[in-house]
Amino acid sequence: MIKRKTIGILGGGQLARMSAFQAYKLGFDIAILEKEKNSPAGQLTQNEFVGWVDDDKLLKQFAEECDIITLENEFIDADRLKFIESLGKRVIPSAYTIRLIQDKFTQKKTLSKYNIPLPNFMEVKSINDYKKISTKLGKRFIIKSRKMGYDGYGNADVMNETDFKDAYKKLTNRHSKLYAEEFVKFSKELAVMVVRTKKEIKTYPVVETIQKNHICHTVISPAQISKRKIKMAEQIGIECVKAVKGFGLFGIEMFIDEKGRILVNEMAPRPHNSGHYTIEGCITSQFENHIRSVMNLPLGSTELVKKYAVMINLLGKRDGKGVVQNYPESLSEPDLHLHVYGKEKSRIGRKMGHITIIGDKLNTTLRKAKKMEQKIII
Ligand code: ADP
Repeated sequence: MIKRKTIGILGGGQLARMSAFQAYKLGFDIAILEKEKNSPAGQLTQNEFVGWVDDDKLLKQFAEECDIITLENEFIDADRLKFIESLGKRVIPSAYTIRLIQDKFTQKKTLSKYNIPLPNFMEVKSINDYKKISTKLGKRFIIKSRKMGYDGYGNADVMNETDFKDAYKKLTNRHSKLYAEEFVKFSKELAVMVVRTKKEIKTYPVVETIQKNHICHTVISPAQISKRKIKMAEQIGIECVKAVKGFGLFGIEMFIDEKGRILVNEMAPRPHNSGHYTIEGCITSQFENHIRSVMNLPLGSTELVKKYAVMINLLGKRDGKGVVQNYPESLSEPDLHLHVYGKEKSRIGRKMGHITIIGDKLNTTLRKAKKMEQKIII
């Protein structure tokens, strides 16, 4: 068997899986490192490494198998990525970039150095900080874990001193330092994907994201906002990536606040839930451009193929096996694109898959997608 160029992905979840499909499509091979066997991406390859990045020996073996390495989340300690780089293998995005992003407080400080518009924020140093913080950020604010937060785990709303103390105790239990952020009364949440190689930088359409219980639920592309705001959001996305000297694929989440300002919520150095619709919605998907950017190849067009695309996440509706229970009903809409992530177990609220519908009329597209999300049971 010939040895194809192999892209290593640290992490084997749905983002790695969808990137892997595109790597295969382009004729590359993949290797996956994940803590458990049969992860959504691990099950696709013979190059499945089971274990984690703290194991030097395993990480060396993994790196030896790969020509280049990327990742599907920002939680891997930058020092471990530095270790891979010290073995002579490139990591994209680099250890340097991940270090600036993975601690959200460092991320915010870095972006603010470049005058990127952000909600007001400050460090939380002790359980007695309520007065100091509420004086600066207002009575209502959010405290966030600086590291390892996802889908809102790691965030807490604070309205008064008791909330603050409770949240402080709860969040510091997760062994992360904290920071506080002003509560933004946003009218919409936006996201933009940015992909960058040494030669090119491209943005995907700016989308509107609608969260339920802090988890991304629906994505509408393009966002229904003025052309001027679209341009601003694209520009801010590009500036964020440049601020962290980022190469590869990035998702930047933003708010439009009451005054119509665009403020950056956070950036992710990887494929992003808000870009899943690009698989069918754009000429080149975020996952294909992820692979192209990692390989430093020419990027594909990021344009929409139809006027609109709507993506809805399929969250587990029951606890049990991670399989679709009712395929005939689930595929009863001919315009539907169904993606199932291959997770072994479904849990209520767990991201199990997603659906996308593209079309030329937003109302119809959105209606179809909402109807189908109700029908599919995983
Ligand atoms: P995670 O990284 O865990 O996804 P985020 O910090 O992006 O968490 O927050 C998840 C959601 O919580 C956001 O999409 C938004 O709806 C809400 N949120 C986060 N920060 C703020 C804020 N400063 N003001 C208002 N809402 C916020």
